[in-house]
Amino acid sequence: MKLYHNIGKLYTPRGFAAARGSAMGEIEEIENAVILVRDDGTIEYVGQPPPVPLLEKEGEVESIDCRGLIALPGFVDSHTHCVFAGERSLEFAMRAEGKPYQDIARMGGGILSSVQHVHSASIDNIVAYSKPFVERALSLGTTTMEIKSGYGLRAEEERKLLEAAKRLGEETPMEIIKTYLGAHAVPQNVPQVDYVLEVLEKQLPALHTMAEFCDVFMDEGYFSKEETIQICSRAKAFGMKIKLHADELAETGGAATAVELGAYSADHLLKISEDGIRALAESERTVATLLPITALSLRVGYAPARKLIEAGCAVAIATDCNPGSAMSENMQFALTLAVIGMQMSPMEALTAATLNGAAALGRAETHGSIERNKLADFVLYDIPRLEYLPYHIAVSDVVAVIKGGKIVEACSRGF
Ligand SMILES: [Zn+2]
Repeated sequence: MKLYHNIGKLYTPRGFAAARGSAMGEIEEIENAVILVRDDGTIEYVGQPPPVPLLEKEGEVESIDCRGLIALPGFVDSHTHCVFAGERSLEFAMRAEGKPYQDIARMGGGILSSVQHVHSASIDNIVAYSKPFVERALSLGTTTMEIKSGYGLRAEEERKLLEAAKRLGEETPMEIIKTYLGAHAVPQNVPQVDYVLEVLEKQLPALHTMAEFCDVFMDEGYFSKEETIQICSRAKAFGMKIKLHADELAETGGAATAVELGAYSADHLLKISEDGIRALAESERTVATLLPITALSLRVGYAPARKLIEAGCAVAIATDCNPGSAMSENMQFALTLAVIGMQMSPMEALTAATLNGAAALGRAETHGSIERNKLADFVLYDIPRLEYLPYHIAVSDVVAVIKGGKIVEACSRGF
């Protein structure tokens, strides 16, 4: 057992399922808190210092002084593309000059340029390139991270990416959850129908055991509703869970389709319709995952977070970390944008970045809040209160990161 004591203030959402609507703003605040962690990394007790008999009963307890710091749950980044093998900063600069995306794609940029990088890289290259991003995410307070494939677009290349994601989970303290996103784009010079058939007949049968989730980029110019349903139905028959890229570039009924398919999340939602909002509000499972760093990076309007929350949806936020439209592994920055750009309160944003991110990955029972029986995933910050976190823009005040009860990152001030 380990006892983290002298926590100045602990903030956490509560519950073993996503928080919806106004419940997203309910954050428990405990002054002078302790967290007692079992040897298996789960929480035995959280609250004000327990009576001495409880501790005596536990026998040997290692005691860690948290020096009055603030504790928050580790972030659950439920949407990233964090296995890639090259960057696209020149394309970023061209976009800043106003060059249209189609022109950039014609010059060899866009998703297909990341596909080129992956095709010419080995698994070792991909792991070496991606690992610093995962390690930085950890040092910035993320303790669980979803990673999607999708820059391979061929069975053997998608396999490389999923294998690299698995190794990132083994070679760093980050907990990685894998998603297969073969239907991210159609490769150059391949007819759309042929590629959908390849996903159905070749990639899914070969790769379904390597990923927990299957995701599809359902949008204008990418995959239609019919193709999405076909791919996801096959994935479900293989026992996979579903996530969808939905209503980002245009409203194509993505949110409602995600609900229909029983998806764990519908992601992006920049162009979501009133019907889409209603469908998500009525769904028991599907979380609305918003990616404000992408909206900032692409200079487009943010997703309607307030409308979604007021309708009673469960909203999550994530980084979308990828080399094209969101080159950031910083969940705290996503939280800042959620507050500044999408008018979420700091409490709602914290719930979105932790408990609801866990729900978007089917892990709300074990992750996403600091509660008895959940994993002891939490972060110590040198800040005066929760509100300071989004307020101190793009600067990290993390002092230590604790994953499964162990200090995996001690960032500063000699912790
Ligand atoms: Zn994405």
